[in-house]
Amino acid sequence: MALMLHNTRFDRLRVGFVYADGLTQWQQVATGAFGAHWRAGGQILFSAPDRRVAPVALVLRFDRLASVHLLRMRLLGVDEANLQANVLAAAVGCALTLLFLGAIYNTALAIAVRRQFPAWLGAWAACMVLWGFFWSQFDLLMNGALAGAPSSQICTALACLAVTLATQGAVTALARDTVPVALRRVTIGCGLATGALGIPASLVRGSSIDAWGAVLGIATLADLVAVALCLGIAWRRGSGEARAFAGAWAVPMVVLATTQVVDTASLFWGGGAQMLVLLGATWQTLWISVAATHRLTRIRLERDRARQAEATAHELARRDPLTGLRNRRGLVEAVDAMIGQGEDEHSPFALLLVDVDKFKTINDTHGHEVGDQVLCRLAGRLSRWDGAMCAVARFGGEEFAMVVVGLSGPVLTQFADRVRQEVAECDHGPALRAVTVSIGIAEARGAADFQSLYRLADEALYRAKQAGRNCVMSAGRPGGDGILPASMERELERVERVSLKHTYS
Ligand code: GH3
Ligand code: MG
Ligand code: MG
Repeated sequence: MALMLHNTRFDRLRVGFVYADGLTQWQQVATGAFGAHWRAGGQILFSAPDRRVAPVALVLRFDRLASVHLLRMRLLGVDEANLQANVLAAAVGCALTLLFLGAIYNTALAIAVRRQFPAWLGAWAACMVLWGFFWSQFDLLMNGALAGAPSSQICTALACLAVTLATQGAVTALARDTVPVALRRVTIGCGLATGALGIPASLVRGSSIDAWGAVLGIATLADLVAVALCLGIAWRRGSGEARAFAGAWAVPMVVLATTQVVDTASLFWGGGAQMLVLLGATWQTLWISVAATHRLTRIRLERDRARQAEATAHELARRDPLTGLRNRRGLVEAVDAMIGQGEDEHSPFALLLVDVDKFKTINDTHGHEVGDQVLCRLAGRLSRWDGAMCAVARFGGEEFAMVVVGLSGPVLTQFADRVRQEVAECDHGPALRAVTVSIGIAEARGAADFQSLYRLADEALYRAKQAGRNCVMSAGRPGGDGILPASMERELERVERVSLKHTYS
C-alpha cells in the first residue's frame, strides 16, 4: 500500500502505517528534508513497509499545516504509484523542455525582429519553465533544502509573475489602434496587480492562505477576462495578431478558468490543476511560436517581393522598351559609375551620337514594324561594344548614343568609324538596302556636363549628315579615316577586348 500526497505548505509530516498486529511504522518528511519521498508532479510518496501482516490504518501528523483545504492525497498500490509517478515525470519533462525551447525561440525572435511582444512571451515561457521546475520538485535534484513550503512559496510567486508577463505579451502584440486605450490600461493593470499580489501570497505560511488563494483566483479571472476582451475587440477590428493570439490564449484561458471553478485536483493521477496549467502553457508557447513564425515569414516574403518589384521598376525606368538598351537616364547613371570606377578619374571620355541614315524611308517603304526590327538589330550590334569602357543607349527614335571612356583624338575617331563600318555590314535580309549610320563625336574636356557634350555631338552629327551621311565627324575637328600608328591600334583593340569580355562573361 502507498500514500500519494500533494505537496502543500507545512513544516513537518509524519505518516504512520498501523498494522493488524498493532505495530505502527513511522515515516516522515520535513521542510528541506523530503529524502527519497518526493516524486515529479509535486507529490510525496509514502510506501508501507512490507510485513507479513497487512496495514489496517494510517495516521498523519502535520506540524504547521497552512490549509486543510489544500490537502490532496490518495491511497493506491505501490507498483501503480511508481508507474504514475514515472509517467507524470516524463510528461512534466516534455512540457518543460518544450516551454524552455519556446522561451529561447521567443527571446531570439525578439532580438531578431526588435519587437516587444516576443520578449514578454520569452520571459513568460521562462517563468513557466521555472514554475514547472519548482512545482514538479525537479529543483530538489539540485537543492534538497527547498523541499516543501519553500518550493510552494516560490511557485506561487512565479505563477503570479507569469500572469503579468503573459498579459504584457498579449497586450503589446496588438497594434495600439486596435484596442481602446482604457481597456489596454485596465488589462495591463490587472496583470500587474496579479503579479504584485503574488509577493504577499507567497510569503504566507499561516491559515490566511485560503483567503489569499481566493483573491488570487479572482485577480487571475479578471485578468483573463480583460485579455479576452482586448483580443476580441482587436479581432473584430481586423487585427491578424489578435487572431493568432486568440488561438494561443483560448486553451490556457479555458483551462485556468476551469481550475478556478471546477475541482480538477484528482486529474492526471493527482497532477491535477498544475498539470493542466503546464500543458496549457506549453500549448500556448507552441501556438504563439508557430503563429509568429508564420507571420514573419509572410512579412519577409512580402518584403522580398516589394524589393524585387522596386528593382524591376528601377531597371525598367532606365531601359528602352523596344530595344532593351539603356535610355538616356540609364546612360547617365552608367557613365557616372564608369567614371567612378576608373583607375584614373581624369581619363578621357567621349559621347558618340549614332543616327540611322534616311530611316524614314525604311518606315515608309517597308512599314513601321520592319523599321522596329531594323532598330532592334542595330541595337543588338551596338550592344556588343557595351562593357567596362563603353556604355550604349537608345535616346529615342533612330538615334543611339555611346559613351566611351579611355579613348581620345584619332583613336576615338577610328573607333567610331569601326562602329560605322560594322553597322553598315549588318545583314537586314534580302528585301532591305544596307542600313548606314552617321556618327557625331564630342570629347569631354575638363569637367564637361552631359548637356553641353550632347549639344556638341549633335552639331557634329549634323555636319556628318551634311557631308553626305554614312560618315563620322568630331566636334571641333573634321573626322578622318587616316592610318593609325601601331600604339593607337593597340588601344582600340583594348576597348574591343574589354567590351567583348564583359559581353560574354
Ligand atoms: P536622316 O538621315 O536625316 O536622319 O533621316 P531620317 O529619315 O533618319 O530622319 P528623320 O528624323 O526625318 O526621321 C526619323 C524617323 O524615325 C521618323 C520616325 O517615324 C521614325 N521613328 C522614330 N521612332 C521610331 C520607332 O520607334 N520605330 C520606328 N519604326 N520608327 C521610328
Ligand atoms: Mg536619321
Ligand atoms: Mg534622327
